[in-house]
Amino acid sequence: MTPRRSTKQVSFGNERTGVVRMGGGLPDASGVATGTAPVSVQTMTAGYTHDIDGCIAEINRYHKAGADVVRVAVPEKKDTEALKEILRQTRVPIVADVHFHFQRALEAVEAGVHKIRLNPGNIQDREQVNAVIDACKQARIPIRVGVNEGSIIERKDKLKRMRELGAVFSDRKHGYLLAIMIAKLEEYLDIFHERGFDDICISAKSMDAAVVIDAYTEIAARFPYPLHLGVTHAGPRETGCIRSVAALGTLLSNGVGDTIRISYASDHLHEVEDGLELLYSLGLRTRAGAELIACPTCGRIQVDLFTLVQDVRKLLAEKITVPMKVAVMGCVVNGPGEAEGADVAVFAGDRRGIIYVQGEKVANVPEEQILERLLGECLAFQGKVQRGEVKLGEKRVQIIPPDPIGELGSGWEKIAAGGTGRIAPLTVKGR
Ligand code: SF4
Repeated sequence: MTPRRSTKQVSFGNERTGVVRMGGGLPDASGVATGTAPVSVQTMTAGYTHDIDGCIAEINRYHKAGADVVRVAVPEKKDTEALKEILRQTRVPIVADVHFHFQRALEAVEAGVHKIRLNPGNIQDREQVNAVIDACKQARIPIRVGVNEGSIIERKDKLKRMRELGAVFSDRKHGYLLAIMIAKLEEYLDIFHERGFDDICISAKSMDAAVVIDAYTEIAARFPYPLHLGVTHAGPRETGCIRSVAALGTLLSNGVGDTIRISYASDHLHEVEDGLELLYSLGLRTRAGAELIACPTCGRIQVDLFTLVQDVRKLLAEKITVPMKVAVMGCVVNGPGEAEGADVAVFAGDRRGIIYVQGEKVANVPEEQILERLLGECLAFQGKVQRGEVKLGEKRVQIIPPDPIGELGSGWEKIAAGGTGRIAPLTVKGR
């Protein structure tokens, strides 16, 4: 992992919503060095903003799942008119996403929104941009300048621009697009600089992961502002996840990126869950809640592990708030080694599960009792952590795999011993 890139820092929100900071490392306006803020996770509401109750419910759902910031679209006046009530009934910083009409930005600022997003492809009139800059300056809120591959290419001179600018990055995939994004940003940010406004963060999204990686890498080298990472139009979760993690994971591991939005054509709750998991996996955020380790299963499996893992995942998300490691392993052949370091672990086999807490065996239960007993042990362990009686990740007793032929046998030893006759055929859901 490359250390995080130093940027100017933007911050927004208030006592009620909590203050979110993005980027940092460079001195602030008074010359004092800012610390680098943790990478934040955002999502955007999928419903209409003017549907006040629906919008509030959506925002609160994402906030509860861990979203640090939630963005709403404000295409019409009735959307900005809804903002006051939405802001009153939510406790997370809200960004108003403005397309086409600068008046919506002014109305959103007036309503008390915490940040504005402008698209240089859609609001280009200098006087209009100046009016938004002045309003944000007065309200002391930042602006995200978000170029987006779908909206930045001016139709009139597209071919000419593509030829001219494409030569600059001719060695890159879709080099002309990369060049236009950067040129557009430079032009647009000049308006902000001339107005003495630098409370800015930047995004440059594409649906192509390679373009996203190249665009943000170039922008990081050219501009000192925090970067909002995202792959746009990434598709449903099944494929969008791969595309987003390929691009955002690469950039973050190179130290680039200060806030992320994973976007799916699926329930946006998954954008929050997967964004947080990406940051946890890279060590860029301290995990809140349990970390689940589970084996992929193989021909040694003797319980319905896929169902068990899904059930455990759901219950851990609901009930566990301390960052304990929980392992659900299909057998005792490789399980103990692979679950090394887990605070609570179950090793299945022969329709049973042996449960360990920090290396100490606490139960050997039939398959139908594994879920309940495992959760009970996780809750008890969580209580001990909260009372300061045990520490996370402290392995007090070495896990010694059970006798493969005796207590919970599986694998070749058992077959060699002729002990497989008592194992009934198993139907595993999803196989
Ligand atoms: S833990 Fe056991 S069942 Fe799971 S993948 Fe490894 S060897 Fe196979």
